[in-house]
Formats: sequence, C-alpha cells, structure tokens
Amino acid sequence: MSLKQKRFILPENEIPHYWYNIQADMKNKPMPPLNPKTKEELKPEDLYPIFAKELCKQELNQTDTWIEIPEAVREMYKYYRSTPLVRAYGLEKALDTPAHIYFKNESVSPIGSHKLNSALAQAYYCKEEGITNVTTETGAGQWGAALSYAAKVFGLEAAVYQVKISYNQKPYRRSIMQTFGATVTASPSMSTRAGKDIITRNPNYQGSLGTAISEAIELAMTTPNCKYTLGSVLSHVTLHQTVIGLEAEKQMAMAGEYPDMVIGCFGGGSNFGGICFPFMRHTILDGKQTRYIAAEPASCPKLTRGKFQYDFGDEAGYTPLLPMFTLGHNFSPANIHAGGLRYHGAGVIVSQLLKDNLMEAVDIQQLESFQAGCLFAQAEGIIPAPESCHAIAAAIREANKCKESGEEKVILFNLSGHGLIDMASYDQYLAGNLMNYELKDEDIQKNLDELKNI
Ligand SMILES: *Cc1c(COP(=O)(O)O)cnc(C)c1O
Repeated sequence: MSLKQKRFILPENEIPHYWYNIQADMKNKPMPPLNPKTKEELKPEDLYPIFAKELCKQELNQTDTWIEIPEAVREMYKYYRSTPLVRAYGLEKALDTPAHIYFKNESVSPIGSHKLNSALAQAYYCKEEGITNVTTETGAGQWGAALSYAAKVFGLEAAVYQVKISYNQKPYRRSIMQTFGATVTASPSMSTRAGKDIITRNPNYQGSLGTAISEAIELAMTTPNCKYTLGSVLSHVTLHQTVIGLEAEKQMAMAGEYPDMVIGCFGGGSNFGGICFPFMRHTILDGKQTRYIAAEPASCPKLTRGKFQYDFGDEAGYTPLLPMFTLGHNFSPANIHAGGLRYHGAGVIVSQLLKDNLMEAVDIQQLESFQAGCLFAQAEGIIPAPESCHAIAAAIREANKCKESGEEKVILFNLSGHGLIDMASYDQYLAGNLMNYELKDEDIQKNLDELKNI
C-alpha cells in the first residue's frame, strides 16, 4: 500500500470569503447583453423585474474582481465545503498513464451536484430583498432540486417548471423537489401564455429547457414578489461557482502540484467556469500556461460547431439578447442522457474566452462518455452523473495522450455531480440500448439561418 495522500480538504476558515469575478480581469470584456425590444445595451435595472437586484448587478459587474460571499451563504457552504480534491490513483492505474489525475468532488453536496453553490446564493439575495416566491425551470432535475432546497433554507416558496419528458421519465426527480416542499409543474403547461401557445401548436410536445425557461420567466413577471432564478449560463451563476476553483487552487497547492490542464463538462458553462476561472486568472495576469478544456456533448455542440452571435437565452424570446456561441434558440437537442448539457447556447464570458482562444472545447459522443463513466466508477467507486462523464472522457483522452508521449502532466477535472439518480440511463447503456447521435451540418445551419433576423 502506498502512503501517498489521496484526499485534500480545507479547514473551515479556508473556505473562500469572496467569489472571483473574471470579467474584471478580462482584456476583452464580454459584449453587452441587449434589450430585445430596443436593441440597446442592457442596464442592471432592465433585469430587476426578473432577478433579485443584487444578482442583476453581479451579472453586469465588469469592475470588481472579488465579490464578498454573504456570511449566511458561507455558513450554508460549511455544511458540505470544502469539497474534497481527490488524486485519482485508481483511474491512473486503470489507464496505466504517467499523468497525475485529480478531481474536485462536487458530488458531495447535499443534493449531489455543484448546483447548490449558486442556488444558496440566489435564494439568499431574494430573501434579503423581501421576495417571497422563486421560480425556475429544470431539465434533468438537478437545478430544480438545488433551488427547492435552497428556497426552503431561506424560507421562500419555490415553483419549478420541469421539462415534460423528464417529468414523466424521471419521477424521482420530481419527488426530490416535492420533498423539499416545492411545487412542480410539467412544461409546457396551460398555466402560462408561453405554454398554452406551444401546446396549441403542438399538443404532443414533450417540452424543452427553452420552453420551461419561458414559462418560469412569465410567472415571475406576472406574480408580485416572485423572482426567476437560473442554474447555468448567466455570469452571476458562474461567479458563485468559482468557490470550486478557488478551493481547488489551495488544495492543489496542498498536493504540491499545479494543473497543466483544467477540464469541466459544459452545459451552459457554470461548473466549467467555476473550476477554471480562478486558475485562468494566472493565465491572464501572469501568462501561466494552462489549458482549459470544455467537454460538451456531440449532440449539442454549441462550442465546437455553433456560431458566435447575439441570440435569445430561451425559445420564446423573453430573455435579453446575449452575445454567445449558439446553435440557435430554436435548436432542439436529441434526448441524450446527460440532460443537464442540453442547452443551445453558452454563457457570455466563456463565449468571449473561447473567441479569444483562452480556452478550448471538445465534443464527446454519448457512448464514449458512458464508457468513461463506468471506468471511473470501477476505479474510484463513485458513479458519476452522465454530465460529468463528459469531463471524465476528456480527461481520459488527455491521460492516454500522456501515455503515448510519456509525459507526466497534471490533469484536474471537475466531478460536477454523482449519478445515483441517473441509474435508468446507466441501465440503458449497460443493456446496449444507447447510440451516438450524428448531427448534420445542414440541421445546424438551418437553425442558425433563422437567427439572421435578430
Ligand atoms: C446542470 C449540470 C451540469 C451542466 O451545467 P453547467 O452550467 O454547464 O455546469 C453539469 N453537471 C451536472 C451534474 C449538472 O447537474
């Protein structure tokens, strides 16, 4: 047995007191979001009807590098943070690679993923402002679960629109939210204009994240004292997720190493940005040579095959226009099992960073991701969320390259969540029922063409 240290944990007083706002350090700032009606640059006030004021300010803050974590939020973080940084000796052995592989284990949060880091912050700011109700959408159920619990912690009522297909196929996700006291509605529903319109046009529509977002925003705008919350994509969400990378930076120092590459799976970019940005700070300020790799699903390849341009964040066009890599807001991704990665666009910060070549992106097919997830489970004893499997697959690709070249590189990836509520997906993979999706260029182009009028 080796006596090498495997797990690195920070003492409570080392849990970050500030989130890191990379916008302040970026040489090329993200282009401004635009008001969809006037096409004018968005001001924080434009967002006040939808989000808590403090979150609107954070969203557009390009000047303050460090933003203080409220003490009440930090107290809640202490229930599960710091999350462990783990040296994946088992995976290294299974791959017979000279690479040193580390992962940051965000699956140890009470709800099993990184999403709680932002849910607690968002619920807190709503409560501070005198809000009584919060609303949101959820696809795979992870964000809905996080928000439902965070709302309960801060004494708010939560109403969640869950994409119909996952509402029906994943009933336990709904039960989790209901257990935390939330009201859950299948989307599209008849409770909103946006939902009614879509049902009228297509009665069998199984829903999408975009539709659910439209419904939740509509509810927030038409209900007094109710705010909308979002679990990914927006800059304030990624800001809150920087606790992951800030901890990882200290923990890597405890391990006596510094990553040559940092990897995260990519839905809207919050866990990727969360683990990468604190390291990227040293690349921007000190020229540190580190690679940042976003792993997205091949069936929803906005970073690798999408286009950088202004687009809506939702299907109905309620959100501001965001400058981002997108497949078009009408793109409907295949029903892959990594539900949390099925989103047509990317956050404005990561989009600018990709445009400026500060990061890279790879697309991973469904079968490769599950194969990676199973290998990781057998080597490390943790069943990863299907989303996280994409990051693992990207890490394995890099570790295999190290094996070929004999290089002892240091790889850090984020384990964004566990897969214990995704066993139906693993079942299908193990039974050989899953397939890869080949997305044609024409299909991507068709949706992008529709954006020309924006
Ligand atoms: C939601 C989710 C993701 C994707 O969201 P990002 O904002 O891209 O991080 C990834 N992993 C898990 C486990 C999730 O729940």
